[in-house]
Amino acid sequence: MANVKQKLLFRSKNGVCGDSVDGTAAAKSMSFEKRHGKVNAGNGQVPGRRKSLNDSLEGDVRDFLVNESELHTYDDLTKVNPVTPTTVLKCLQARYSARVFYTHAGCTLVALNPFQPIPHLYSLDMMREYHSAPQPQEFKPHIFIVAEEAYRNVQGQVEPVNQSLVVSGESGAGKTWTSRCLMKYYATVAVSSQKCQDTVERIERRVLDSNPVMEAFGNACTLRNNNSSRFGKYIQLQLNSSQLLVGASVQTYLLEKTRVAFQAPDERNFHIFYQMMKGATEKQRQEWEMPHDQKFTWLPNADKTLEEDNLQETVDAMISLGIETDKRAQIFRILAGILQLGNVNFSPALESQPCDLDEQSKDFLKKTASLLQVPAEELQECVTVRALRAGKQNVLLKPCSQSECIIRRDCLAKVIYAQLFEWLVTFINNSMCSDNSKWSNFIGLLDVYGFECFLLNNLEQLCINYANEKLQQHFVAHYLKAQQEEYVTEGLKWSFVSYQDNQSCLDLIEGSPTSIFSLLNEECRLNRASDAKQFRVRLEKELSGNNRMSWDKFSKQPHFIVAHYAGNVSYQIEGMMEKNKDPVPPELLSLLQKSEDPLLQSLFAASDTEGNSSRPHSKVVTVVSKFKNSLECLMKILHSTTPHYTRCIKPNPDCRPLTFRKEEVITQLEACGIVETIHISAAGFPIRVAYDSFLQRYGLIINTRLPQAQLNNNEGSEGGEEDSLGPAVQAILNTVQKNSNRFTNLNNNLMVHCGKTKVFLTHAMLELLEEQRDRV
Ligand code: ATP
Ligand code: MG
Repeated sequence: MANVKQKLLFRSKNGVCGDSVDGTAAAKSMSFEKRHGKVNAGNGQVPGRRKSLNDSLEGDVRDFLVNESELHTYDDLTKVNPVTPTTVLKCLQARYSARVFYTHAGCTLVALNPFQPIPHLYSLDMMREYHSAPQPQEFKPHIFIVAEEAYRNVQGQVEPVNQSLVVSGESGAGKTWTSRCLMKYYATVAVSSQKCQDTVERIERRVLDSNPVMEAFGNACTLRNNNSSRFGKYIQLQLNSSQLLVGASVQTYLLEKTRVAFQAPDERNFHIFYQMMKGATEKQRQEWEMPHDQKFTWLPNADKTLEEDNLQETVDAMISLGIETDKRAQIFRILAGILQLGNVNFSPALESQPCDLDEQSKDFLKKTASLLQVPAEELQECVTVRALRAGKQNVLLKPCSQSECIIRRDCLAKVIYAQLFEWLVTFINNSMCSDNSKWSNFIGLLDVYGFECFLLNNLEQLCINYANEKLQQHFVAHYLKAQQEEYVTEGLKWSFVSYQDNQSCLDLIEGSPTSIFSLLNEECRLNRASDAKQFRVRLEKELSGNNRMSWDKFSKQPHFIVAHYAGNVSYQIEGMMEKNKDPVPPELLSLLQKSEDPLLQSLFAASDTEGNSSRPHSKVVTVVSKFKNSLECLMKILHSTTPHYTRCIKPNPDCRPLTFRKEEVITQLEACGIVETIHISAAGFPIRVAYDSFLQRYGLIINTRLPQAQLNNNEGSEGGEEDSLGPAVQAILNTVQKNSNRFTNLNNNLMVHCGKTKVFLTHAMLELLEEQRDRV
């Protein structure tokens, strides 16, 4: 144990960072708002948020409160005195420079991404040391402390308590990396020490192998992260009564299936397609119609070399999970079919004729049909002709326009990919999940997309930010509870922090009877042609009472702005209704049902396929209703567990090793709620001064200086300060009260509280004290 401490101490003393740790260049970098198009309405403040703390403390007051040369030694941001966004930022920067990547923030762990491997920090030895330590929390902050705390908590004092580790942060901050690290930790410490030879059979192997498979199918290279998760995930690690890992189950959220058929400039499709293109054997190339020199429209930026492009690793993991040779062949054939489909183009339609296909496209369509094992003519007809039902018997055939054909082609690819992903998740669950009788508790790991704010935001961002609002509400409730406990330890009553939470924002998005979601759903159920302008008018009419909703008068596009806890986001309405309906033409579904490929057939055999348009309109299950339901289930689970929060921070936008950009970090501290919690603590007493320091500085006010002898006597004593120094402190406070016209607040204990070892002050009180000290 001492070993770990020494090692960590050694690192922080000697870990001098190179030139790349750069705070000064931050000012030069473009602001988050400019790059991401963040909208600031009015004073730029989110309603309900308190005014920022006075960050302009200067000179000796700052020195008295916080010693900047020692900032990197603070293991807990809440101990930085005073807690303000500036001091917190400085502390994190100092630590990052000293190559200390983890810092506590009360009940939260802040993890700064080093963007370079730090192998010793995550070695098996390190895991074992944290695991076997009697008091791991005494070690330097580390993700293993959180892991171990949850592991020990699971047993509970009275009865077992399930745990949740919530990992959040923006894209590229390190959520998935951290989740993987946590899974490895449990797969190392929560297993029987008896060696089992048959490694494929070992459950922890399968749990770990679920990662490469899910990442191959659900992750992609984006502008912000080469391995960006395009879905949310909650994995429950199941433990038996002896605390051993016996299984796992995973729940996924909102896969970004549009990526299959559309990749933004400089971004890529899901990794699996590149793995196939790069890793196929000659035989597979023939079977998949994938010659070396074939260009695929849906495979942009294939020349980029990524370590994620590793087909063998994915196949090995599939084998370990029990996906047999036949099934794997079917999966890859379907994926190859999707790629071929992307190369099918349509000529503009001529006078009520279906769109024509040129020779090349016909060839690609044939290959698609053969890989998906559906009749080629029917496939062509399905994407170029719409079947309209007229009465029970009659079907009217209407040729689609060129753009409609493209929508149908893309829709086919998306629905197949989404169903395939679902099938994989179910398979993985069956492979990892243990019998209910065999496990008694779980530790859940939540890796969900962080708050998003781009230049253009649509339904996806609304759902993601809604999920973040929900999680933030959960976090604040938990944080307030932890704060309350800390105040109680110091002997303070908890009645002074009043905080307006983000309920009004949630009401605006999901509330009943009227909210953005309810109006969106209503619009979709009416099944009329969506009209963005009309919908905007409706929103304004029905929801203008909610001060979380606003509009930019100068914008020409129909939109609405939501004041989220993390900032204002403008959502475009165009396309939102269509995305919410997510319709799949019934012709496409019946075509897929007819496939001779057993997997494809089974994906679409059941009637509960994703398609919406085959259902009567009243039963349309919209994207937001589905998402809301799955999120409600998640929140129920989270509420029934003890949560542990880890906030991952991306210290620079370019993923450069050991580079710290202040502007980037502060924006994320805001978006992940750390600044919000700072505001909450500011609503209480953010400045905490030990009795002796207080007398040293403010004794002047009553002409008293604490004798050095008394200072020495009080050093290291616990809990006795109030008794010995309390009267002097009280005398100072009384004098300040007498000389001030703000004493009602003082009388009511609204500005100062005397704890067992410290005096708790508001900023206003600090100002008063400083004022009076200056006058002496
Ligand atoms: P997204 O929301 O896009 O999925 P994410 O938060 O899941 O992003 P990760 O994929 O976990 O981000 O991390 C991005 C990259 O940062 C990783 O591929 C890895 O290279 C690096 N990284 C993250 N955490 C660490 C760490 N603790 N040590 C070293 N490298 C790290
Ligand atoms: Mg991720």
